[in-house]
Amino acid sequence: MAIFKDKHYLRVKLDKETDESLWMQCKSCGELVFKRRVRENNNICPYCGEYFFLTARERIESLIDEGSFTDISKPIMAADPLLFQDTKPYPQRIEDAQEKTGLADAIIIGSVVISEIAVIIGVMDFRFIGGSMGSVMGEQICHGMEEAIRNQCPFILVSSSGGARIQEGILSLMQMAKTSVVRAQLAEQRLPFISVMTYPTTAGVQASIASLGDVIIAEKGAMIGFAGRRVIRGTIAEELPPNYQTDSFALEHGSIDRVANREHLREELSNVLRFFVRQ
Ligand SMILES: [Zn+2]
Repeated sequence: MAIFKDKHYLRVKLDKETDESLWMQCKSCGELVFKRRVRENNNICPYCGEYFFLTARERIESLIDEGSFTDISKPIMAADPLLFQDTKPYPQRIEDAQEKTGLADAIIIGSVVISEIAVIIGVMDFRFIGGSMGSVMGEQICHGMEEAIRNQCPFILVSSSGGARIQEGILSLMQMAKTSVVRAQLAEQRLPFISVMTYPTTAGVQASIASLGDVIIAEKGAMIGFAGRRVIRGTIAEELPPNYQTDSFALEHGSIDRVANREHLREELSNVLRFFVRQ
């Protein structure tokens, strides 16, 4: 149940960094790194190769032909029909996330060009309530696919999500079905859908739209699965393989098609797009 708020809709307003510190410490190797150097390196640690999170904006910029992005997200924001409250009321949680990220919700839909091929892209942002899929994200993904149908072009979804947004209860679970239905319309039109799974692609998102790509590419280091390791181990009372829910495990078991390093992701997408789209 997304509500339309044309006037008050928050366009992406934070193009600037809010964090003013120039240095950061890599959580993997412990080195102090100049932030700009990390940013220029696709948010990869120049010392040990650790991947840091990319914001949705950074991810988009890393994949597209320069300057080709137009934000076509719908002007909608989440409602709070369940009057949900955990440690804070849901509307407050939304507002805090908007303040922190400059986004209206956890996904941006854009019209972009990749290697001279026009594409509609949806990119999730994990900073916004764990990239969770509520009614807004579900509607935005459907909107993106409908735009792809309207423009007769491919659709790309880059996932980074902890799953359904529990604060919206059943309404968030319904998004799994809703996005799958529109995805089928994309297939009827014989338009390609490329799903990119990044760290983490889990639960309701992994169990629905992210796993429905014609081609599914995982970024190296992606965590791919439904419930967490501890929950599964506790439920089935069995030890899990050490690489369980990793990119390599998903590849070996056929739930994804490719694994790509972050620096090669754009090239991978270009190759797949060129395969599908005759120019
Ligand atoms: Zn490092």
